[in-house]
Amino acid sequence: MAIPFLSFSPQHDPIRTEVLAAIAGVYDKQWYVLGEQVKAFEQEYSAFNQVGHTIGVANGLDALHLALLALDVQAGDEVLVPSNTYIATWLAVSFVGAVPVPVEPNPATYNLDPALLEAAITPRTKGIMPVHLYGQACEMGPIIEVAQRHGLWVVEDNAQAQGATWQGQLTGSFGQVNATSFYPGKNLGALGDAGAVTSNDEELARKVHTLRNYGSQQKYYNEVIGYNSRLDELQAAVLRVKLPHLNAWTQQRQQVAARYDELLAGVGDLVLPTVAVGASHVYHLYVVRTARREALQQHLAQAGIGTLIHYPVPPHRQQAYAHLQLPAGAFPIAEELAATCLSLPMWPGMTEEHLTAVVEAIKTFF
Ligand SMILES: *Cc1c(COP(=O)(O)O)cnc(C)c1O
Repeated sequence: MAIPFLSFSPQHDPIRTEVLAAIAGVYDKQWYVLGEQVKAFEQEYSAFNQVGHTIGVANGLDALHLALLALDVQAGDEVLVPSNTYIATWLAVSFVGAVPVPVEPNPATYNLDPALLEAAITPRTKGIMPVHLYGQACEMGPIIEVAQRHGLWVVEDNAQAQGATWQGQLTGSFGQVNATSFYPGKNLGALGDAGAVTSNDEELARKVHTLRNYGSQQKYYNEVIGYNSRLDELQAAVLRVKLPHLNAWTQQRQQVAARYDELLAGVGDLVLPTVAVGASHVYHLYVVRTARREALQQHLAQAGIGTLIHYPVPPHRQQAYAHLQLPAGAFPIAEELAATCLSLPMWPGMTEEHLTAVVEAIKTFF
């Protein structure tokens, strides 16, 4: 049985009529940018994420960038980032001329290790960007504690973890101003690019709101040098149909993960996901590790099973960051993860039949 890495069908098929009607509604309304759909989605997402403000933007990378602009991050400032994140987190720091300073993850959870933060702080450090990687909430309590002790801001990269919690509080609601992505494959996905900034700080929210639309609150009057990074009405209308289903889809992801945990325990040298005490995991990805990663991926591909690697090269080893002169071996945990991680098929509504076929193929390999 061929099994893709991701199938949208169980999510999209049941809401097809509703989504197409929402799209037709925007079409007929003839208002395509910054209208009632965006406004309504922003309110509904704020209610979902339990934050005071949501600002819809063009994508997750822009959300990160606008968050840092709102905080007035300056050239030469240092920002603590995970050594093992998707490059977007680092890019946003670079966009404002600041320097990404990598901090290694906890080798079990793959999330920022709060115990390592303090050693990376210098007089130039201004903030911390925790990334809730693969869908697991970072240990936000200890991270916020360090931030407060040193007068640093926190910007959460919540692109992979909508609906995850740390001690009951939703990710995307801890930092001064936070970013998320609605890229199609994310847990809440649009039908194209989309993202949002979330915040409980009215002034920072207003800054992002101004920056996303040419630095303007009043049409043709520009307060600051802004950007064009708007969430469009079509994507907002689609996201409004999908958002009420997100919690149910998350539960389905968690059920798939629980079955993988059960069926893959003790198979070969596989290291399965570990969830920190106090954290919840919404399994944007189900990532295993093995010393025989390339061979396992090849074996699964031959069996028609799709897998991906998140991510094969850590940011400090990318050509784009060669100027930081961070040599191989500088961040051994990130490098070990990059060399051994493999993301298995995972989507809400994945069936037991799919799951056992993946597990059987893995067992055959080992
Ligand atoms: C997807 C993602 C982003 C960027 O989102 P885009 O909408 O693709 O720009 C940022 N950070 C992380 C961790 C992501 O997974």
